[in-house]
Formats: sequence, structure tokens, C-alpha cells
Amino acid sequence: MSNSDRRVIAFPGSELPPFGLTIVVPAYNEAEALPHTHAKLTAFARKLKDERGLPVEILYVDDGSRDGTRAVAETLRPDGADVQVIGFSRNFGKEAALLAGLDHARYGAVIFMDADGQHPTAVAETLVSRWLDDGYDVVFTYKAHRRDEPRLRTLFVNAFYGLVNAGVRHKIPADAGDFRLLSPRAAAALRRLPERGRFFKGLSSWVGFRQIGIPYEPDAREQGEAKWSFWGLLAFSIEGLTSFSIVPLRIASLLGALLAALAFCYGLFIVAETIIHGRGVPGYPSVFVAVTFIGGVQLLMIGVLGEYIGKILSELKGRPVYLVAEHSLKRAADQPAAT
Ligand code: UDP
Ligand code: MG
Repeated sequence: MSNSDRRVIAFPGSELPPFGLTIVVPAYNEAEALPHTHAKLTAFARKLKDERGLPVEILYVDDGSRDGTRAVAETLRPDGADVQVIGFSRNFGKEAALLAGLDHARYGAVIFMDADGQHPTAVAETLVSRWLDDGYDVVFTYKAHRRDEPRLRTLFVNAFYGLVNAGVRHKIPADAGDFRLLSPRAAAALRRLPERGRFFKGLSSWVGFRQIGIPYEPDAREQGEAKWSFWGLLAFSIEGLTSFSIVPLRIASLLGALLAALAFCYGLFIVAETIIHGRGVPGYPSVFVAVTFIGGVQLLMIGVLGEYIGKILSELKGRPVYLVAEHSLKRAADQPAAT
């Protein structure tokens, strides 16, 4: 792709994949949950086909699981929907799995749904209706409340969105999840974004078009356990922050300027005091405090710079976001052939 087509993306209808819906399901150690989820999804697919004539494909992305998730996925029947299975060469993370889903989707519209069955198909039906009936391009969901989550996590999440959205034009909707529908042109737009560091919530807000959010109540996870760790979430937040905001850099400059100004005033004060009272300078403690404090702030700010430079490096290396080890496709009996 040349630089010029990266900047201007047009959507003549003929370039879009065929009419239909791909449900992308990232799965990491979900062998136990997968058959249950698959039963729900195929029922949903049959309903869409009967009621709206919408061909559906379910795309499982096995994110390098160690519990035989891929073997289980291979046994799932293409019952009313095509079933595609992609296996990564190792665990690349959910964002990479979502991107792989987007890349391999054979139909135009895409829905992202978790493998643990926490995303109700009834809500997915609403997403489809907002797209087909009301013409929205990005239909995202957000949790109706966070009552059952730890306080600390809620605090962390709010601080994160406050920081990301400070002073930017394309605000990332707070609380929005990955559970969302992309119309064919929104999906095509996302596919063409060149960056490797992926933060889907932010990117799908950035592409614009007609967007709408829908509150929902996630179902309880029935099998397995949630895969996020504190450090995982922290890394994810830093990724999101550095791809969508330069506020941390600005804070660094402001804080630096403020400290320098304070130090300057204090310097003037000391000079004045020496001239007026002519006394020597005791006060090693204050010097010690000032030096360590400024040293700490400097290290912190260098760390902030480092985050952004690390990001430049990883974009520069241009490594693929994921590697596919296995790939299979089973067609449903009465499905029109997609590409
Ligand atoms: N997941 C993944 N790769 C990972 C971690 C998670 O593909 O490295 C998948 C996981 O299988 C599930 C979804 O991402 O389908 C959400 O994960 P989880 O249920 O652990 O998180 P939560 O529901 O708390 O957001
Ligand atoms: Mg979950």
C-alpha cells in the first residue's frame, strides 16, 4: 500500500465484501465454554437467516490456547452458519485476535463477541437491527453499571478514560466494550488503518461514520475464569493512552515548567535573604528533599517519554500483529458462497 492510499480511503460499494455478517469470537483457553457459546451463536445465526435473509459466519480465533480450544473449535458443526477457525502460533492477546478476525472475515459486517458467553445474543440482535434498520455504522455496547466490579477497578477505569479523553476531539466513549458491530464500510476502514499497536475501542471511535451506544447487562461467565490480570490491564491502558493521547507528555512539560518556576522563586528568595540578613546557608535537609523530589519527577517524565518512544520503535519494526498457524473453513449446507 502506498502512502497516498493510506491517507485517503474511499468506499465504492463494489470493493466491500458480500452482504452478510461475520461473528468474530476471540478465544483463549475456552475449551469448556466454546460448545455452549457455539450453540447460542448458531441459534442466533439461524434466526438472522430466517428473519432477515442475512448469511452468517462464525469465526473463532484461538489465541494460542493451551487447553485444546482449537481441537474443540474444529469439532463445532457449521449448523446454519459457516464456521471458520484460525489458530495463532502463540498467545498474542485479545486485540490481535480481534484484528485477525477483522482481516479474515468473509462477510461485510462484523460483530465481536467473547467466547465465554457473557455477551447475550439478544443484545447482538439489537446491534444488527441498529445497523440494518437504522443505518448505524458502529454500534457499540457499554455496561449498564459496574456495581459488581471491585471499587478499585472502577476508579482505575474512570481515571483512564478521563486521561485519554482530556482535550481530544474524538472522545472514546467511557465504559464501551469490545462487544460491538461494525458495518461493512466501518469494518473496511478499520482494516486499512496502518498502525500495529491496536486499541480497538479507540480506533473504532476514531473512524467516525454514524455511531451509537447501547447499554447492556453482561451475563455471568459460566465456565472458566476471566483472563485479565492487573498487569495485563495496566499494559493495555498504557497502550490505549499512548495511542490516543499526548496528555501525559503535556503534563510532563507543565509539571517541569511549574517546578522550574518554583525553584527560581525560591532562588530569588534565598539571594534576597542573604543580602538582607547576610546569614550563611544551613538547611541540608531542604536541599536533600529538593534534589530527590526533582530527581523523581525527572525519572517519571523520562518514563513517559520512553513509553512513546517505545511505541515509535514497535511501529517502526513493522512486525505483524499476529501469526496464523492453522486455518480451516467449514461451509454450512445452504449458505451462498462468500469470498
Ligand atoms: N481472550 C483472548 N486472548 C487473551 C485473553 C482473553 O482471546 O489473551 C479472550 C477470551 O477468551 C474471551 C475474551 O477475550 O473470549 C474476554 O476475556 P475475559 O472473559 O477473560 O475478559 P472479561 O470478560 O473480563 O473482559
Ligand atoms: Mg469474560
